[in-house]
Amino acid sequence: SATQVIHNFSAGPAALPQPVRERLAEALAPRPDGQPSVAEISHRGKRFLAIAEELEARLRGLMGVGDDHAVVLLQGGANLQFAWLPMNLARDRTPAYLISGYWGQKALAEARRLGPAEVVGSSADEGFLDLPEMGHLPSECAYLHYTGNETIHGLQFASPPAVAVPVAADLSSEFLSRPYPYADLGLAYAGAQKNLGIAGLTVVLIRRDLLDRIPDDLPRFLDYRTWVQSDSMYNTPATLAWYVALETLRWIEEEGGLAGMAARNQAKAEALYAAIDASDFYTNPVAAHARSLMNIPFWTADEALVAAFVGEAEQAGLPGLKGHRALGGLRASLYNALDMDAVLALVDFMRDFEQRRG
Ligand code: PLP
Repeated sequence: SATQVIHNFSAGPAALPQPVRERLAEALAPRPDGQPSVAEISHRGKRFLAIAEELEARLRGLMGVGDDHAVVLLQGGANLQFAWLPMNLARDRTPAYLISGYWGQKALAEARRLGPAEVVGSSADEGFLDLPEMGHLPSECAYLHYTGNETIHGLQFASPPAVAVPVAADLSSEFLSRPYPYADLGLAYAGAQKNLGIAGLTVVLIRRDLLDRIPDDLPRFLDYRTWVQSDSMYNTPATLAWYVALETLRWIEEEGGLAGMAARNQAKAEALYAAIDASDFYTNPVAAHARSLMNIPFWTADEALVAAFVGEAEQAGLPGLKGHRALGGLRASLYNALDMDAVLALVDFMRDFEQRRG
């Protein structure tokens, strides 16, 4: 019915916080003064530059990074960074990769199209049910890349690997979900479509001294320095996505900042894992210390019931629970915007489904 409460568990693009969705609607509505909306103005005009400035300042504030790091806002998603990163930083040194799931494998495959890349740890042979042990890391390597949170396999590193080489992190599905030592990272990237608003914007954090390693013959668009020097306005940015990102950062701060997000996210994940572990009908096989707080894949005892679960859950106002096509099963994505009510509604539905079908 029209009054049904919907809890959206989509992996991305994902649910917006309700206040952000309202501010977006207001921003696009006709204005009393007749002026164009935020999506219809020059990115070089005063009105948009104020948004851009506040966006960068709030991003830096939440990440806790200072002048040692540049923050650039790009397009192309994490997938473009899989190539962009080795193109910029691994021309004359070999990069190293830690592989804990599907996305790390994809990042590695792109790096290997450009040159050699070493795997210094992988849990692929065990089906990505635990984080990889790290083997020997050559001190000469360009960087160590890891995937902070594996969105499909549901594994998360508690903290960045502590190594002497620059660390490069794919933080797509855990960006700004908890306090994190961003300032310790050499480079990090994340698309906005999970925890920072809508698709079209990719945040890249890069330690400034690494910019000196970039070769001089890259296309200008694909050279990180171009974006640092132009304040991320080398060409037309995804202006509406920037605006929504700003509203999302304001919301995160209203909700207690990264500590507030962490408290919320911890409680949600604990509630869902507890429900899965308490039942013989649902399973999540990931090692307890490696389990993701953001994306929780799970299976019904009988794989044939997955489709029914997904369909009935959607009817019950719980869309987005179908697992990724690479893995099957079910998956609940519990990004910042989701509240505890959503998890409680899911747990109720799971119990009910088990009683009827288990
Ligand atoms: N890396 C991780 C960990 C992801 O979750 C995703 C998104 O689904 C990607 C990379 C790909 O992101 P994009 O679609 O922004 O290229």
